[in-house]
Amino acid sequence: MPDAFADLVGQDEAVDMLRRAAASAAAVLRTAGERAESATADDGTVPAAAEGDPGAGMTHAWIFTGPPGSGRSVAARAFAAALQCVHGTGCGECPGCHTTLAGTHADVRLVVPEGLSIGVNEMRALVLRAASTPSGGRWQIVIIEDADRLTEAAGNALLKAVEEPPPRTVFLLCAPSTHPDDISVTIRSRCRVVPLRQPPAAAVAEVLVRRDGIAPDVARWAAAATQGHVGRARRLAGDPQARARREAVLAVPRRLTGVGAAFAAASALIEAAEAEAEASVAEIDAAERAALETALGAGGTGRGAAGAARGAAGQLKDLERRQKSRATRAQRDALDRALVDLAAFYRDALTMALGAPVAPVHTDTAELADAGARSWQAEGALRRLEAVLSCRTAIEANVKPRIAVEAMMLALWKG
Ligand SMILES: [Zn+2]
Repeated sequence: MPDAFADLVGQDEAVDMLRRAAASAAAVLRTAGERAESATADDGTVPAAAEGDPGAGMTHAWIFTGPPGSGRSVAARAFAAALQCVHGTGCGECPGCHTTLAGTHADVRLVVPEGLSIGVNEMRALVLRAASTPSGGRWQIVIIEDADRLTEAAGNALLKAVEEPPPRTVFLLCAPSTHPDDISVTIRSRCRVVPLRQPPAAAVAEVLVRRDGIAPDVARWAAAATQGHVGRARRLAGDPQARARREAVLAVPRRLTGVGAAFAAASALIEAAEAEAEASVAEIDAAERAALETALGAGGTGRGAAGAARGAAGQLKDLERRQKSRATRAQRDALDRALVDLAAFYRDALTMALGAPVAPVHTDTAELADAGARSWQAEGALRRLEAVLSCRTAIEANVKPRIAVEAMMLALWKG
């Protein structure tokens, strides 16, 4: 049976909460409609009573939190579909559900930051548009992926809207956690939190088989290797390049035979992340530039051409700045994925050294992890795991990636 929440894997409690909120939102719209028919105009404001039951009511601002791959944006989109659903349930089939899930609903705006942060201008424009009356008669919905990447000024612009929300506007924010580093305390205090957990690998494998037609054994391997990250598991199962990148990362522990090898491994990891990032943005960069040049009518002459050319140069510069920011972000994301894979290898070694009864993340390097466990003991495995995790933290804190990765490789070699 089709269902807007079908792709939200292993999140029964969150789905239950969102379904009840969608039903409550539909009731709000019905009441508003009846009141409008019987008497004066009504703005459909969510009544205070709807806030009374924290488990069921509808509210204007939500935060979806959970580890990467838990399905924050999938959950936000599914909830948006349920709010726009003509049946108020998220049936997955009606035009409201369908267009929302396809990303074409006129009253649902999705913000995916391309650079390292979401800027204030983007946020102001968004808040302004979100205040307009929903064309479909239901809700104006703004989904902000990676709300933890809002700049402070953008956060303030959003806060104003969240504090005094237009009656039919709903903000759905996605962030790793509600820690003040991720989301400001004041915004947090205005939102209801939907916590998502890391889905079990078995549930992820089941989705890959059912929805993507991936062979069960490949699906199980990919789900375990990506630690329940649905998107990465799907890519790993279907994309040979993703597999090759993972294999190169998992070859690192074997390659660390001396100082020179450690620096070489650091270079290789950085360059692989750069290459992966470049491939991921090259196509869209070129398309954007071509579109802008066409729009600017490159090579015009005559009256006003000089002024127009000056304006055009500014716009091109602006585009280049945005593209550079996006490339940096793509590089960091690629590097982070590699570090997560590497951390899991040392985590496997640690659990083996401790004799813990848990399955290894990387079944294909389990033997190597076991050999490491025996020579390093638990303490040595833990130190190495910590070296990888500190590298992630350092890069997050804006340490130059090459410096952080070199320090990590040396620590992994020395142990
Ligand atoms: Zn529907």
